[in-house]
Amino acid sequence: MLTKDELDFLNKIPADKKVNFHSFDPKVVRMAEDLIQSISNIFPDLEVKHMGASALGISGQNDIDIYAFSEPKDFEKFLPGLVKLFEKPLHRHETFIEWKFKREEFDVEFYLTTKDSKTMKKQLMVFQTLKNNKDLLKEYEKLKESMNEKSFREYQEKKYEFYHRILDNKIKAIIFDLVGVLVLKKEGFIATSPDEINAQNIEKEKLNLSDGEIKKALPYIPTKFERFEKLWEILSDLKKQYKLAVINNGNSIALRYWKEKFDFGIFNLYINSGEIGLRKPDPKIYLLTCKKLDVKPEECLFMDDSLENIEAAKKLGMKTIWWNKGENKEKLLTEFKKLVNS
Ligand SMILES: [Mg+2]
Repeated sequence: MLTKDELDFLNKIPADKKVNFHSFDPKVVRMAEDLIQSISNIFPDLEVKHMGASALGISGQNDIDIYAFSEPKDFEKFLPGLVKLFEKPLHRHETFIEWKFKREEFDVEFYLTTKDSKTMKKQLMVFQTLKNNKDLLKEYEKLKESMNEKSFREYQEKKYEFYHRILDNKIKAIIFDLVGVLVLKKEGFIATSPDEINAQNIEKEKLNLSDGEIKKALPYIPTKFERFEKLWEILSDLKKQYKLAVINNGNSIALRYWKEKFDFGIFNLYINSGEIGLRKPDPKIYLLTCKKLDVKPEECLFMDDSLENIEAAKKLGMKTIWWNKGENKEKLLTEFKKLVNS
């Protein structure tokens, strides 16, 4: 389903307008770089980005789309300098200012725009997704090639549908397992003190200990684990785009000590199996998490080191990454970053 704005835009396209595609010309990239450099020379702190087909290195209309990002309240600050460079803008809107001009044989569209408008957010997401996913990018290029010399309106409609398809598939929430993903066993750790050994037994739910022993051992449960720092480092960035949750199969009595050692404040939700009487891989625990996050299972990315837990999540339609214990953690992290465009 296309949005009203998209339909309005389609209706404005003249019925006889045709679209022409050319294969990718590296000259476009050099030209874009020169334009960006000329802007950066005047405004070194202004974020400027080359986007569109030419920036993705695929066939297109051989035009150059360049975006500079600023809050609308600061547009005036940049306007005189940009007018000096590119002359008067074509249109001025509330959230963006638009220039159109020619550089040698290329059409250039330049926008001074907020990053926060709905349209811009969508465009950035489409661009990032295509940049990170070679299969989708190929599909996108094929779509363009198949529409060469055909109706521009029909092409634009197919393009919108394609965008919807890739964005509707978007992940809205990331669900982490605790032990084996967020926290890893310290290398070479061996429980030595009686409290540490008892702590391990509590973890394994071998609870033939006295109340006093349990009480003393509890704080030692998380001691042998440490954060997988490289993953924690990107959480605050991920939080801007995704809901974040933890599902931990663990008893409720040690929960307090986990929370004391590791600050889970960044997560929107922390589900502890002991507290709710459900454990992974029971589908109910995943569905409860989705309900609390207000997302559908297919909008979730779930990561766990247990294959059984992964299979259960997959059955519900979640995207998954299995943090196989034997696998290199950096490699898993790279795979994860690719999926979430981080
Ligand atoms: Mg685990």
